[in-house]
Amino acid sequence: MNILVIEDEHKVAQALKEGLEHENYNVDLAHTGEDGFFLLNSEQYDLLVLDLMLPGRDGIEILKTVRKKKLSLPVLILTARDTVEDRVLGLDSGADDYLVKPFAFPELLARIRVLLRRGRENQTFQLQCANLKMDLIKRKVKRGENDIILTLREFDLLKYLLRHQDQIVSREMLATDVWKETNRATPIDNLIDVHIARLRRKIDDPFEIKLLHTVRGVGFIISEESP
Ligand code: CA
Repeated sequence: MNILVIEDEHKVAQALKEGLEHENYNVDLAHTGEDGFFLLNSEQYDLLVLDLMLPGRDGIEILKTVRKKKLSLPVLILTARDTVEDRVLGLDSGADDYLVKPFAFPELLARIRVLLRRGRENQTFQLQCANLKMDLIKRKVKRGENDIILTLREFDLLKYLLRHQDQIVSREMLATDVWKETNRATPIDNLIDVHIARLRRKIDDPFEIKLLHTVRGVGFIISEESP
């Protein structure tokens, strides 16, 4: 089980990591919302432990983005603020449970166990951007009610873009992570561009709202908003 802990207080974060690792969970730490967000997009986690008071992007903002992307992982928020409004805001923003600091470690463990059990039961394995939906189990893609038939490579390409939704993906990232091309002496930029064009014809051309955007000189981004 992989757990991501986003907590800016290094001492607290380290204590959480050590305690959870002692219970045989794999734990990654992020000390800022930005770092946490990056990890969420690049790794697979079974649970997110999220501190609400963070510098930069705060916990609520992260939570809202996670839910907007329909990431189904359970989220446990840690909050120093013990007001009803904060708890309600956290739960309304998509948290599954919360703990008020300071808390007893065994209680944290108990709640984590409950959330992980629940998470396994209703994991959907879906990625989504606007009305573009990808089912990772059935390997099906839909835009609204329309089925979209993709080749294996197009499917992997779209999956990668959706996992990095709202982030610019460079041709280099695609070459390494989708084409598994480590030898950059073989330029495959043209090949990537051809696949992007084909993907765009299928997922965007017939529809009014475009989701796959080219960022000139940088790469591509899948997003509801054009960059
Ligand atoms: Ca904090």
